This record gives sequence, C-alpha cells and structure tokens, in this order.
Amino acid sequence: MYICFDIGGTNIKAGLFSHDGEMIEKVSVKTPPEYDRILDILISIAESYHSLKACAVAVPGTCMPADGKVLFCPNLSALNGHNLKNDIAAKLGIPVFLENDANMAALGEYFFFEKNNIKNMIFLTLGTGVGGGAILNGQLLTSDISLFEAGHININPEGPRCGCGKRGCLETYASVSGLLRTYANLSSAQELPDGANKVFSLYKSGDRVAGLSFEVLGGCLGIGMATLANILVPEKIKIGGGLSEMSEAFLPNTLKVFSKHIYPAYRDKVTIELSGLKNNAGLSGCAATCMLGR
Ligand SMILES: [Zn+2]
Repeated sequence: MYICFDIGGTNIKAGLFSHDGEMIEKVSVKTPPEYDRILDILISIAESYHSLKACAVAVPGTCMPADGKVLFCPNLSALNGHNLKNDIAAKLGIPVFLENDANMAALGEYFFFEKNNIKNMIFLTLGTGVGGGAILNGQLLTSDISLFEAGHININPEGPRCGCGKRGCLETYASVSGLLRTYANLSSAQELPDGANKVFSLYKSGDRVAGLSFEVLGGCLGIGMATLANILVPEKIKIGGGLSEMSEAFLPNTLKVFSKHIYPAYRDKVTIELSGLKNNAGLSGCAATCMLGR
C-alpha cells in the first residue's frame, strides 16, 4: 500500500492507496502553521497503517523533487527551506517522492485517464490560484526544480499585483480571487459576492456583470492556454480545480480566444477538455508516482 499526502495552505489531504492505485481511505486535517506540527501529522497518519511500500507528497509551491527540499510555497511558508522528503524518509524508512501539487495533479489525470490515449498533455487547475503541469512523451515534465508555473505566465504587464509579487499573471485573472476582483472592478454594487459560487449563481440568474466577469476570466485563460500550447503542442489541455465546475460560464470564450491566439499550424491539433478527476487529482498523482516508482 501507498500513503499519499496533498499539502495545501488550508488542509492536508491524506490518501491510502492499494498497489493498483485504488483509494482505500481518505482523511483531511487542517494544516497547522508550523513545520514540525505538519511533519508530526504526516508521520502519525502514515504510522497508523501497516505494510506501506512508499510515500508521495504534493506541495503547494516550488520544490526540488530529487533533492527533497521545498523552496517556496507562497501560501504555506512554514515549508520553505525544509527537506520534507528526507525528514519523512528518516521516520518512515520507505521511499518518499516529492513534487509540486499541480504537477502531481497532471500526472494523476494522465495516468488514470489518458495514458492509453495520448502522449502529450497540459493540465491546469483553476482554484484559489492557478497551477499547471505538463506530460511530454508520456512522462511528467520535471527537473531538479519543479517546473511549469503556468499560473505565472504573463497576460498583462500592467495588470493586478499577483501573490508572487509580479503583475498581471494568469493567476490574477483565472482564479477565484481573480474572478472576484474582476467582478468588483466591473460592478457598482455596494454588496459584492464573497465567493466564486455566488458569482456563478448570479451568472445563472442572468446578472450581466457576473457574465462579463466570467467572460474576462475565460478570455485570459484562452490567451494563457494558447501561449502554453504554442510551446508544447499538447494533444489535450485539460482543466480541473473548483472553477472547472463552472465552465459553462467561461469555456465558450476560452475556446474562442484560444483559437484566435494559437499558432495557426497547431490550431487543430489541440483539444480542450474538463478533468476526469475532481478533488483527488493531487492524491491520485501521488499514487501514480508511487506505482511508477519515480
Ligand atoms: Zn504570479
């Protein structure tokens, strides 16, 4: 069996998987603010199971997968600078794998849904932020440092300030906070929606500002996707994360803008689809990593 962790800024998700990648059990606990307590939680969950063969961990930021060090997590700085892989391996005595969470999600989506269909794929998660991962020739694109920060490719150099410190990243438009910001900028209302679900209900009730806000999100996403597709020419770009469940509100504009901006020779080579894995993409990628042994 494999123990897998998806560490987020808010919650730590843990999943116990069988050798053939079936999830047997899942638990979720609040993420504490200190590194030692995070490590204690991971170890105590892992130690509650027997016969573990490997462990894989998805972290919400940039890491060094082979070395094991976490470099920079914008929303969970407690992990920064720690060698999480070595610290877990020292306690559990089994192989430990580490990757960026969106890269894990990309691998999960590919391994469990697409590996028999295609060789090249980009996966984008649209949620609190925007994450991305790429599969090239059937393998996760990674290196000494975790790659593919798709959320931070530039859409507008004069755009809103991003959590990373730069301006106008894809994430400042195609995330939950981006959607709410766009709505606030376009609306003259005193009371503003406080979540993506609220904007989505407004959209469904015919609210013009909500419709426009999703259109802006979709358009920026289309530009971002075209930029990525021009470099990697994936057979599919798949979209996951909480916002993907509201795709009827933005995907038509994404497809329109994508088709306008993609390099003409690549236009008919790339299909855009929704993810098959809902909330468990990160954990599933961890399970796939354990199964592949890398
Ligand atoms: Zn950024």
